[in-house]
Amino acid sequence: MRKYSVFAVAREALRGHTGWEPQWASPEPRKEYDVIIIGAGGHGLGTAYYLAKEHGITNIAVLEKGWLGGGNTGRNTTIIRSNYLYDESAALYNHALKLWDGLSQELNYNVMFSPRGVMMLAHNIHDMQGFKRTIHANRLNGVDNEWLTPEQAKEYCPPLDISRSARYPIVGAALQRKGGTARHDAVAWGYARGASDRGVHIIQNCEVTGIRRNPDGSVAGVETTRGPINAKKVGVVAAGHTSVVMQMADIRMPLLSFPLQAMVSEPVKPIFPCVVMSNTVHAYISQSDKGELVIGAGTDQYQSYSQTGGLHIITHTLDAICELFPMFTRMKMMRSWGGIVDVTPDRSPILAKTPVKGLYVNCGWGTGGFKATPGSAHVFAHTIARDEPHPINAPFTMERFRTGRLIDEAAAAAVAH
Ligand SMILES: Cc1cc2nc3c(=O)[nH]c(=O)nc-3n(C[C@H](O)[C@H](O)[C@H](O)COP(=O)(O)OP(=O)(O)OC[C@H]3O[C@@H](n4cnc5c(N)ncnc54)[C@H](O)[C@@H]3O)c2cc1C
Repeated sequence: MRKYSVFAVAREALRGHTGWEPQWASPEPRKEYDVIIIGAGGHGLGTAYYLAKEHGITNIAVLEKGWLGGGNTGRNTTIIRSNYLYDESAALYNHALKLWDGLSQELNYNVMFSPRGVMMLAHNIHDMQGFKRTIHANRLNGVDNEWLTPEQAKEYCPPLDISRSARYPIVGAALQRKGGTARHDAVAWGYARGASDRGVHIIQNCEVTGIRRNPDGSVAGVETTRGPINAKKVGVVAAGHTSVVMQMADIRMPLLSFPLQAMVSEPVKPIFPCVVMSNTVHAYISQSDKGELVIGAGTDQYQSYSQTGGLHIITHTLDAICELFPMFTRMKMMRSWGGIVDVTPDRSPILAKTPVKGLYVNCGWGTGGFKATPGSAHVFAHTIARDEPHPINAPFTMERFRTGRLIDEAAAAAVAH
């Protein structure tokens, strides 16, 4: 596939942009593959990319019931950070953060990774103690995170109102300078292009409707809306629909699916230089490169597979944003949307083999899996290729919900993404 460069852009500009090739192929499905990945979100496409690139497995199909990147990957608010409390999570999310750093060069695709800093506001003693504990734990794990006084926080993010008379006064903040945002669609498209270039088949509009098993119980392939396809290895990366797909293999997952909503304002000039989150008032905000304020909420309280969600959830979030930044009360919101997130009891993902031989699962990212995309895909590819977990994802098993060895990131994931 042609390499993107400034010279390619100049050449195409001179000949009316007639020479660009499609970014990925759209082949007919084969009867059999070495590996099938269910779900063409960032995690699924990335898994196929690393399987091909690092493990030499190229006879792969990524099956997608809709269009690639149309699930949570194309619906999220793109916050990237790795300041999780526990050692296991810090290792996983920091592995991803390191890969984000060189991802545009790796994929020859501009994923617009922008490490502009993620600031978490403390409004009371409890927040302060919690954040300071996390900062100490992060530093022991080599994860950057620092405590800022209210004045330092305002210097980093001038729109902050740090007056003591504010309804929710800011008593300090935790700042991860290496955190930030990236362009979600570009991540899916970049991995799709890289995988397709290495021979991976990306098959859109192909819903998996069943998982076929051999007489010994191992995986034999899948049933799809485009006919049966054989494979000895199947990776399920279906986010909010994971429990539906895993049920096809008679596995009951420890997952609940909830709508999660976000919205953007009309575009304005650059005003907001970083990402700000407040778990206490239940909101977070950043500004996109187009100038829109990107605002996210907590999950709806009820389980659902509808991608809309309740209006009162987003109005509550806007109330919170207006409390924190009264200057935004005059902004108009342009659109809102929702995605379906799959939530585990300890709010940490499952990245593991399953009781069915040849069946692997990558799920449970809840409200915060975009940031993990490159790291998750990288270690999941290892797990599928070698039929054993990478040391980084070894703790993220399903068995932990039986043994009690939980990785309890509920506090980190309550609202924060
Ligand atoms: C509103 C919102 C805001 C968010 N904000 C953030 C954030 O700021 N930072 C962050 O880190 N995370 C955030 N997240 C979470 C993040 O988006 C997800 O954790 C992540 O994108 C999951 O990626 P994925 O590739 O696993 O899933 P997806 O992108 O959802 O891909 C799964 C795919 O599987 C397909 N599929 C399902 N069932 C089948 C089937 N039977 N057959 C074939 N295909 C199937 C779906 O169509 C879908 O395309 C947010 C999520 C939402 C909804």
